[in-house]
Amino acid sequence: MPYSFKFVYGPVPSRRLGESLGVSPIPNKTCNYSCVYCQLGRTTHFINERRDFYPKEDIFAEIKEAVSSTEKIDYITFVGEGEPTLYKSLGWLIAETKKLTTIPIAVITNGSLLYLPEVRKDLLKADVVLPTLDAVDQALFRKVNRPRRELVIDKIIQGMMDFRAEYSGEIWMEVMLVKGLNDSEETIQELKTVLDKLRSERVYVNVPIRPPAEKWVEIPDKEVVLRICKTLGATNLAFYESTTGFTIQSQEEIEEEILKITTRHPLREDQILHLTAMPTEKIRKLLETMVKQEKLKKMLYNKQVFYENAKRK
Ligand code: SF4
Repeated sequence: MPYSFKFVYGPVPSRRLGESLGVSPIPNKTCNYSCVYCQLGRTTHFINERRDFYPKEDIFAEIKEAVSSTEKIDYITFVGEGEPTLYKSLGWLIAETKKLTTIPIAVITNGSLLYLPEVRKDLLKADVVLPTLDAVDQALFRKVNRPRRELVIDKIIQGMMDFRAEYSGEIWMEVMLVKGLNDSEETIQELKTVLDKLRSERVYVNVPIRPPAEKWVEIPDKEVVLRICKTLGATNLAFYESTTGFTIQSQEEIEEEILKITTRHPLREDQILHLTAMPTEKIRKLLETMVKQEKLKKMLYNKQVFYENAKRK
């Protein structure tokens, strides 16, 4: 059942986290990176100081309500429309959620602030932390992730190492590959050296399956991705995005859910078709109407049709 919450959404099906209840404690597009592949578009709140953008009690109240009214949640996932560790009271939110439920807690992060002891401390109570590492060389890091000027990849990697030493939960690393940028043999070998040292429980390889911030971004060839997965001992997330999940019945509900999810990121047409048990033709008609009413924008990326919320900046 979809919620009309401000900070909490889902549960949405996730390949890594099953039925994942998302918690976004930061405003849209708030990040210290502006990755070329970002599905949110270019970062608009490009900051590196941690803040409480919203009262922590308001966010926690929504988590509480969602947990008590949802039958199946595999993970409560702190994930921003940007970088969730920029939320200053993240540690408080995780600790309070832990007191509330035994449902495991995940944090999806770009990992950039793990060099700060307070961020590492905040994440200690999470069950699984999923940081990203796309490059280990400063020049390439700047090209792929376009971080705030003060961020230095060596320091970030050291932060990840320190976190590994202090943290007893699981770390699942993710590497996002962009064709011609970080998919060369040399780059992958460098990444492998660091990932081996990090001793994370899992490594995932992904590609920009949704329309990226920069139009020139391309997905590497399938054989390249498979070869890289083998080299890194990684699980391939690239070509298996889940299309199953919710079952929403009424037209109002599906319209509301489409608008909510597409505010966060564009959705493929086939993913929308799987949101509901409604007949395909009926959904297609609804999408056409929503485009005509200027609620949705239709676009083509990687030979697939996507829809995004027309209000998304
Ligand atoms: S992909 Fe993640 S880390 Fe990169 S700009 Fe977007 S929100 Fe920030």
